[in-house]
Amino acid sequence: MYFDVVVAGGSVAGLLCAREIASKGFSVLVIEEDYEIGTPEHCGGLVSIAGLEELGIIPFRKTFEHMIDSAEITSPNGNSFTINSKNQKVVEISRRELDKQIAFQAQKNGAVIKVRTSFQEITDTGIRTNEEKIDCKILVDARGVSSLIHKDRTGILSSAQYEIYSNWIKKGKVEVIFDQEKFPGFFAWIIPSGEGKGKVGVAGRGINVAETLDKILEERKNFSVIRKIFAPIWIKGPIDNFVEGKIVIVGDAAGQAKPTTAGGIFTSGMGGVYAGQAISKFLETNDKTVLEEYQRKWMHRFGKEFEKQSLARKILERIDNNTINKLFESITPEITKEISEKDDFDFHTGSIIKLLGVKGSLKTAQTLIGGELKKLLS
Ligand SMILES: Cc1cc2nc3c(=O)[nH]c(=O)nc-3n(C[C@H](O)[C@H](O)[C@H](O)COP(=O)(O)OP(=O)(O)OC[C@H]3O[C@@H](n4cnc5c(N)ncnc54)[C@H](O)[C@@H]3O)c2cc1C
Repeated sequence: MYFDVVVAGGSVAGLLCAREIASKGFSVLVIEEDYEIGTPEHCGGLVSIAGLEELGIIPFRKTFEHMIDSAEITSPNGNSFTINSKNQKVVEISRRELDKQIAFQAQKNGAVIKVRTSFQEITDTGIRTNEEKIDCKILVDARGVSSLIHKDRTGILSSAQYEIYSNWIKKGKVEVIFDQEKFPGFFAWIIPSGEGKGKVGVAGRGINVAETLDKILEERKNFSVIRKIFAPIWIKGPIDNFVEGKIVIVGDAAGQAKPTTAGGIFTSGMGGVYAGQAISKFLETNDKTVLEEYQRKWMHRFGKEFEKQSLARKILERIDNNTINKLFESITPEITKEISEKDDFDFHTGSIIKLLGVKGSLKTAQTLIGGELKKLLS
């Protein structure tokens, strides 16, 4: 069997990559080891409408019913502030449906998709799956964080996310809770999927995420868990080389999820799109150097923002609860208003800088995080 390109991993990045390659008339096979595209869903589903549009996905009409209006951010001592996020046009979507929609686009363009088929190894002429040998010119590694586990474990955190029903989940209101003792270096989140239902999750360095999430829920009371998922997230930014010989790495497998939140629908998805365009060019010209355009294009678009996000992450990993509590005290209504008006969901370090009290006068925090803060500002 021969395909110009085999894509290992049938999720957002792999499917978008396949869609682009197939649209140029080349043969492409997507192999997905799970038994269904989009399942098991391991995502909060938060994404900007602008991001979806740029990925070439026309959101379903019902997507707009899940607009996120506000985000409440809570400090370890329980203080909180709320950002009005209406301007950012962020929606909560079902990844199950999104991935299937992209799979449909890819198939319509001519891609072949096979589920319950896993990539096993590279051969001299292509790859071997659990079923057979397939010859190809290019292998796209779109296997998500699982592809990084053998490369670098230091950028990986465990996460748990439960789908729950509860009367304290409010439609349109995302919650983010910081506590460096309970969830070091990350946070807990609540993402509604409607009134009284949604996803509650947590990640953190060196913690038992299941126990931590159970505790959060016990404290809140009145809930039913209807689904549990446990998945690794990558927070270390892009890997050094997106292209290694005839292997092109895309999406979370290339570290294209945001270092701040590990969100990657848009940024990993764009990795798939840019890679697909570069691979098509390579297949047209047989010139391997055009593959490098993919990394250059992705870095040009997201490199600076990801660098700043990594610095923001370093700050978060260094500060303690006391400092976070003090930072929260310095957040004025003017700052939250400015963020509400100007924040960009996909390029959000501008807001982080504002929240770090740069505009205020928080000397303690600035002394503690001075070095990184200066770099973040420059
Ligand atoms: C709990 C959680 C919440 C999240 N919430 C958000 C959010 O709200 N917004 C956001 O933008 N991002 C979020 N993310 C991140 C987002 O899910 C990822 O960035 C995105 O799914 C990355 O897409 P991908 O195609 O690169 O990889 P993945 O979606 O990880 O897909 C990789 C695919 O490869 C398959 N695979 C693995 N090994 C093989 C193999 N050997 N052979 C064949 N197939 C294989 C897997 O089964 C999987 O389908 C969240 C992640 C987690 C874990």
